[in-house]
Amino acid sequence: MRGAGVYDELTARILRGELPPGARVNIDALAHEFDVSQTPVREALARLESDGLVVKELHKGYRTTPKLSRAELANLYELRLLLEPHAARRAAQRSTPETVHELQAEIRRFLTAPPGADYESYKDFRQHDARLHDLVLRMAGNPIITAAVDRTHFHLHAFRLRYDARAGRETVDEHRAIVDAIAEGDGGGAEAAMRRHLHEARARLLAAR
Ligand SMILES: [Zn+2]
Repeated sequence: MRGAGVYDELTARILRGELPPGARVNIDALAHEFDVSQTPVREALARLESDGLVVKELHKGYRTTPKLSRAELANLYELRLLLEPHAARRAAQRSTPETVHELQAEIRRFLTAPPGADYESYKDFRQHDARLHDLVLRMAGNPIITAAVDRTHFHLHAFRLRYDARAGRETVDEHRAIVDAIAEGDGGGAEAAMRRHLHEARARLLAAR
């Protein structure tokens, strides 16, 4: 297995809960299992550390991080609610036919939310959500705001919480309302739709905790 493969496999194990929160990561055993030297395993762990999925402990190696607590989740949504409704307004004001086309293409790919609660469905859904929010942030044209949201690695952490298909369908409808307002150049409407979506998403995730 090559380096990127080790990273992808470890990410999947953490997100699926096969490496549970707080678990010690055994570098030797993983190198042996993947039939690689320790170097690619250590490189993958360094990347996972910057993603916030593992923490390095002095002289002890790595552990997987705990799942988000209710308070951490609430803090993350507080930040998103400060930044993303504003970004949606700016995106509507700055939209071009090309960027609107990109947003609509993302919506069309997800008109039907993934049906199951299995890892692959959930992964597709989370990646769609991450791409849509990232597109809106980039359309807003302030890279510092985009970086502030990116740095929270929100989508990776939310992944470890629960998914159900109903939440997926509601999310798709809320996303469509945001994209429609942006496509019409309706800044106030886009801001309100994004705020509504983040409030609903926060409520769904808190209910699942
Ligand atoms: Zn969303």
